[in-house]
Amino acid sequence: MISLGIESTAHTFGVGIADQKGRILANRKSVYATKHGGMIPAKVSEHHLESFEGVLSDAVNDAGISLADVDVIAYSKGPGIGHTLRIGSALARSLSLLLKKPIVGVNHCIAHLEIGRALTPCKDPVFLYVSGANTQIIAFEEARYRIFGETLDIGVGNFIDAFAREAGLGFPGGPEVEKLAKKSSGKYVELPYVVKGMDFSFGGILTQLKKMLKEHSVEDLCFSLQETAFAMLLEASERAMAHTGKKELLLGGGVACNKRLQEMSKAMCFERGAKCFILENQFNADNGAMIAWLGLLEARKRNFEKIDKTSILPYWRTDEVQP
Ligand code: AMP
Ligand code: MG
Repeated sequence: MISLGIESTAHTFGVGIADQKGRILANRKSVYATKHGGMIPAKVSEHHLESFEGVLSDAVNDAGISLADVDVIAYSKGPGIGHTLRIGSALARSLSLLLKKPIVGVNHCIAHLEIGRALTPCKDPVFLYVSGANTQIIAFEEARYRIFGETLDIGVGNFIDAFAREAGLGFPGGPEVEKLAKKSSGKYVELPYVVKGMDFSFGGILTQLKKMLKEHSVEDLCFSLQETAFAMLLEASERAMAHTGKKELLLGGGVACNKRLQEMSKAMCFERGAKCFILENQFNADNGAMIAWLGLLEARKRNFEKIDKTSILPYWRTDEVQP
């Protein structure tokens, strides 16, 4: 069975192709970026509309198949930006009708988790999902994906991006912040540390960082931002591991590309005798391959959608998904 997956929840338009053995035959994407300023939904949708043809044909070429070989069409149903989700779902519907193949809409957050289980040896992890809009600690417990901790306001990626925008570093800000943090003298600037129970919040730290831009070097602020935000995320992740008794931590989402977060995660796992699993960057960031793979898992259960019942769910929560 061959599954073609379309990702369009936010700045990435991706097409991935996977087979039933979990082999990724193609993972192509085009990512919206700016030199200054952030992401405007209407502009991002334009970007996706302009890129879909090229990304799709590149993916099909990489896989060495023809579209007629595809057995199921999968798309990101949510959560995400309505404007951009609509483009992926419309393309999926068109392909499904054209190729006369079944269609299935999948949850983007679960797709991040399941691609991690497919491409690493981890079996039953606590999943630290750190992306632009989403920041959640997810684990499978009592027949459901449950959220053990999450951001109370903005996602950690958006937090980093918002700081980067204010500092004039462009979008996405994560990679720039990581680069500058490495150049810091290592001077830690005191920032609020906001963990509430198992949840965390970044809005207050962002306000504080913006105020400090005039008083401190941007390198030291980037360094302090990373040390603070990542420690918060790992404190809650460690508690989720202690609570569930799980011995595996899986990282996912665009922020999981950050080497400092990876290093801190490995150190935490090492200290508690657990294993830390990290994906290649192309599968951490939003991608079509993970959508294809989760679509394939759904297709095995024959969880297809009727074409006239397909929809997007911009606010779909991980714990609402029926496994
Ligand atoms: P996603 O929504 O999962 O594609 O992730 C996108 C987010 O990941 C954006 O907010 C980026 O700024 C962030 N990101 C990408 N690379 C890095 C990095 N090296 N360090 C921190 N954040 C990053
Ligand atoms: Mg994501």
